Amino acid sequence: MDRIDTLVVGAGVIGLACARALAARGVELLLLEQQPAIGTGISSRNSEVIHAGLYYPREWLKTRLCVQGRALLYPFLKRTGVAYRRCGKLVVATSDAQLTQLQRLAKQAEANGVEGISLLGDAQARALEPQLHCHGALLSRESGILDSHQLMLALQGEAEHLGAMLALGCQVHAIRPGPAGLTVTTNQGPILCQKLVLAAGLATPSLLGRIQGLPCQTLPRQYLAKGNYYKLSGNAPFSHLIYPVPEPGGLGVHLTLDLAGNARFGPDVEWCDRASFEVTPGLEEQFKLAIGRYWPQVAGRTLTPDYAGVRPKLSGPGEPGVDFALLGPAELGIKGVVALAGIESPGLTASLALGEWVATQLQS
Ligand SMILES: Cc1cc2nc3c(=O)[nH]c(=O)nc-3n(C[C@H](O)[C@H](O)[C@H](O)COP(=O)(O)OP(=O)(O)OC[C@H]3O[C@@H](n4cnc5c(N)ncnc54)[C@H](O)[C@@H]3O)c2cc1C
Repeated sequence: MDRIDTLVVGAGVIGLACARALAARGVELLLLEQQPAIGTGISSRNSEVIHAGLYYPREWLKTRLCVQGRALLYPFLKRTGVAYRRCGKLVVATSDAQLTQLQRLAKQAEANGVEGISLLGDAQARALEPQLHCHGALLSRESGILDSHQLMLALQGEAEHLGAMLALGCQVHAIRPGPAGLTVTTNQGPILCQKLVLAAGLATPSLLGRIQGLPCQTLPRQYLAKGNYYKLSGNAPFSHLIYPVPEPGGLGVHLTLDLAGNARFGPDVEWCDRASFEVTPGLEEQFKLAIGRYWPQVAGRTLTPDYAGVRPKLSGPGEPGVDFALLGPAELGIKGVVALAGIESPGLTASLALGEWVATQLQS
């Protein structure tokens, strides 16, 4: 049987960031990915936005790791040559009633220690974005966009340079704790390790269920919420990211830009029973209705289906949102195991900070 000190399961942005952080501490590790390539899961199907940390309560990990992650991310992107742009974002109120929500968001941002935040009147917002229809806006100067695939390649490059090994096409089936360590069964044979990180995105809860002897009450219940994206033909009408005020389950159908300057809209919130990355067709009119509240000219433009992501949510339809579930040896009751569940947005932004959190957990 192969032996290794640490196994990390899942080569999305989170597993790659964990591998890099652990390898930087001199840990001998193998990163397992079931697909033939890295980053084909949620990490390549999102808005690619570098979030500032506006939305969640100050004490949540989602907030702390987003703010810390962003502070680590910009210098990392610069140093490694990953494409990014600190383009800023406007959260817009499209009615007077929503102005109160914006003020609440501004207070939350201040409490969260987010820099570069200003509340703008409608004229000030339109001076930045002439096509915007709004009653007021919250400007977040620290928000930006990045190339998520380049980020993952950079993380892989650094992790491998530091000694981490990557096995593609290697799927974990079962985990058995024993006196000699953890026996991890894969399609390429069993591996004995001392420490195990489950960063398997949508599959983390089901992998936790495959740890022999783990009490059922420890398993987080996961719900799936697909987010569809539609792209806009022709020129992008805005230079900032444009977000409505948040809606239940997501941040609302917003405008994001890619680094080539193209615009796309999404993601909506579509609760589903199984993970499917197929874009739901026929949503053009529904999208135009949502977008038209802040950009009426969308009526005359063409939207076409682009791609879809699936959120690993730990609260269901109609329930209030909850935090990331970072389960360490204390929560799981198993020495050497860390599992990351519910890593939805802002997981991409928080990735470097999450990697550091995991490395610290496994060292203590
Ligand atoms: C619609 C949407 C929009 C988002 N927008 C943003 C955003 O703008 N900004 C932001 O910061 N965050 C955003 N996020 C969140 C961010 O994309 C995720 O938090 C992040 O990508 C999660 O990465 P991951 O590595 O946990 O999961 P994944 O990328 O899915 O990686 C998990 C990997 O584990 C592998 N795996 C699974 N099971 C096994 C197994 N048994 N054996 C081996 N390998 C296995 C999978 O193949 C996969 O490659 C968004 C998320 C969604 C869904």
